[in-house]
Amino acid sequence: MIKLTTAAKLTNAINKARTVKPRVAINKFGSYTVTNKATGATYAVECQKREGKRFASCTCKAGGRGQACYHLASAVSVHMQLAAERAALNF
Ligand SMILES: [Zn+2]
Repeated sequence: MIKLTTAAKLTNAINKARTVKPRVAINKFGSYTVTNKATGATYAVECQKREGKRFASCTCKAGGRGQACYHLASAVSVHMQLAAERAALNF
């Protein structure tokens, strides 16, 4: 589980995601399957909020070591989009 603090910490992962352009499938809000289109490898990314803090995890090797990988960065950007849409509908 990685605690998401500033966007700066994800910068490298976001840049890598822009290059690799993995596919992010939404299983449900907070649960995503990220596919590397080149290799076909899939990873599960979970995003959750606990006590007002945001956390995310990825099942890849880097994610297992607590590093912000590009799968996580890709899924987090989708998650934040969904969260913003939910918040906008929740007036
Ligand atoms: Zn990963």
